[in-house]
Amino acid sequence: MNFPERLPIPDDVLRIARRLEEAGYETWCVGGAIRDNLLGLENHDFDLTTAAPPGEVRRLFKRTVPVGVEHGTVAVLDREQRAHEVTTFRRDIKTDGRHAVVEFGVSLMDDLARRDFTINAIAYHPGRHEWRDPFRGAADLEGKLIRSVGDPNWRFQEDYLRILRALRFSARFQFRIHPHTLEAAKANVQGLAQLSAERVRDEWFKGITTAARVSKLLTLWLDVGAARIWLPEIRERGAGSGPLRVLDKLPRDPVLITAFLASDPASLLTRLKCSNKDIERGRAIGQWRDKHPDPKHLPEVRRWLSAVGEYADDLLALLTAGSAPRSPLPKIVDSIRAARDPLTVKDLAVTGDDLLAAGVRPGPEVGETLQRLLAEVLEDPKRNTRDGLLSRV
Ligand code: ATP
Ligand code: MG
Repeated sequence: MNFPERLPIPDDVLRIARRLEEAGYETWCVGGAIRDNLLGLENHDFDLTTAAPPGEVRRLFKRTVPVGVEHGTVAVLDREQRAHEVTTFRRDIKTDGRHAVVEFGVSLMDDLARRDFTINAIAYHPGRHEWRDPFRGAADLEGKLIRSVGDPNWRFQEDYLRILRALRFSARFQFRIHPHTLEAAKANVQGLAQLSAERVRDEWFKGITTAARVSKLLTLWLDVGAARIWLPEIRERGAGSGPLRVLDKLPRDPVLITAFLASDPASLLTRLKCSNKDIERGRAIGQWRDKHPDPKHLPEVRRWLSAVGEYADDLLALLTAGSAPRSPLPKIVDSIRAARDPLTVKDLAVTGDDLLAAGVRPGPEVGETLQRLLAEVLEDPKRNTRDGLLSRV
């Protein structure tokens, strides 16, 4: 691959780079944006790597955020308050598979050498328009190859998250993983158990949103053995089977997709330390995904809508991507929503206070009566009038 003469570096990034250079610190563009631009993909999110120590970066710019100073990363805010990451040339001197102790005051070459894959270790000088590609990342971009910088076993043992990053980039760009890198990923997969759930979750979710096909990402996680460790609730299925194809038809929603794949979604989402809201969503999906109403029976559809509440659209998405692509249920649901049929106790024409005034005893009986009235109204929405309901009490 020939390097282009120039890359379209945004003005704000150029300004930051120039400032650092004027202060005497060599500064280069690196990382994902270089890779993406070489692939012809739009990405304006250029990271900068510089000889300036973090303290100097903070001193040179008015507005900075120390996003990871111990690793040398400072975010510099531009005129529009957008953050640009500036990282000091660094070398990892001690690693334990999860964290690194880093040393500053090293060269660009050292900095590129500690990066994960050759395609992520290319640097471009925004002022001089020079390129540095000591690990032949451009050739791997052309050959569509994910390859570790240096010895893959060693590199994965420094930070096991790189195994998952390899899978993500492979699925995103539809690149092969180099045989030695793939072999090392499999050999070191047990190390993934040491990672924090948050890092694994972010990586898995990012993979789902960026993969060319989610089925490919899942196949990689299964083949390498990462799924066995972190996603054991995923019901294993052979490649090319029905569910894999369903996967590619679902909306790119990581929680929905993870829940779809899991035999016990709540347990999987809990392991991944998802929010309570996401775990509840997974639980509802697990509970309801095989219990769809008969679309021909309107009261049944209304009762279902009332019971599944905010999760109805998730369940409809799973239904139409999977077992029943031509189900009339979504249309029926639309018509019920358009008619504004009452579906919850809140929609009833009477309140708890009305029931008390009508002589219902305070206490659980109020809620029970409201539920009973709701059941009648779900059967026939025309019953939802104040007088009608009070006459039934
Ligand atoms: P994207 O942002 O599209 O996911 P990216 O390559 O920009 O891809 P980032 O996580 O933003 O990924 O990291 C920026 C760069 O930092 C990478 O291109 C890579 O050079 C380096 N890097 C990130 N994470 C690691 C890691 N775990 N080990 C080694 N290098 C890493
Ligand atoms: Mg990035």
